[in-house]
Amino acid sequence: MRLVTAWFNGSPFVGAEVGDEIVDLRAAVAQHLAARGEAHAEALAATLVPASMVAFIGAGPTAWRAAREALADVGSAGGVAPAVGGRRLRYRRDEVRVGAPLLDPEKIICIGRNYAEHARESGDEPPAEPIFFNKYNNAIVGPGDAVVHPGEQLTSKLDYEVELAVVIGRTGKDIPAERAMEYVFGYTVLNDISARDLQLEREGQQWIKGKTLDTFAPMGPAMVTADEIPDPHNLRIRLLLNGQVMQDSSTRYLIFNIPTLIAYLSQFVTLRPGDIISTGTPAGVGLGRRPPVWLKPGDVMVAEVEGIGSLVNPVVAR
Ligand code: MN
Repeated sequence: MRLVTAWFNGSPFVGAEVGDEIVDLRAAVAQHLAARGEAHAEALAATLVPASMVAFIGAGPTAWRAAREALADVGSAGGVAPAVGGRRLRYRRDEVRVGAPLLDPEKIICIGRNYAEHARESGDEPPAEPIFFNKYNNAIVGPGDAVVHPGEQLTSKLDYEVELAVVIGRTGKDIPAERAMEYVFGYTVLNDISARDLQLEREGQQWIKGKTLDTFAPMGPAMVTADEIPDPHNLRIRLLLNGQVMQDSSTRYLIFNIPTLIAYLSQFVTLRPGDIISTGTPAGVGLGRRPPVWLKPGDVMVAEVEGIGSLVNPVVAR
């Protein structure tokens, strides 16, 4: 499934991309259940598909299975089935606003220096154990949304970082690496916007200071479920700035792979449905260039991961 958070007339819903359309997943599940003679199809569908993506992931495998079966029905129904309870099933893309796939995760955990070439371009050796920091939900924006340059008085070194982001599906603590992939719900693209001066040159060198300003975590364009990404460790990953390729690598070069990261992080924190682990960025960031390249209002970033899609975000002045 390719899942999105979409809005129609100001109300958010969990949607799925089906062809060129966005399907309301709750409406699809209601229709699927009604077609099977379920008497309380609408109420059950509302439980299985809440309005928030994090809650939908938290609803668990029964909900995910119902969604998958319902979408298979939608794919074969040719758009002729009536809406159940007046809830519309399908929307054209231009009828809805598509935002970040997840709006309210409990945690956004980001991994630092997880590609050797990027560690070196940043003036560091590859780390001996994972480095992590976090972003808050204030930083989340979606496809097409603006990244707001905080202004020269706060930063003159604004940078981009394309990353493969892992979305957790189940609660877990002390997860063994060999079982870690069972905890992955899906994947999205995250652009880890970074104010390098705030991150690296200020008191205490607290990365979070340069990493979680408003709009600094663009995500999307969709969240793809794990079954559709058979090998997340072999995906091309690129970032284009104003049409020019700045980063071009593969997730096969991750120093600490996804099972290792899940096992490592879950020693410290309980992972929960909807938590995001952004796995780090490859070489080619603005910081690593000679001369450096810093983002400015008017720039357009395209962050891409193979199999997930292209996340486009303009930079605008505050
Ligand atoms: Mn990063």
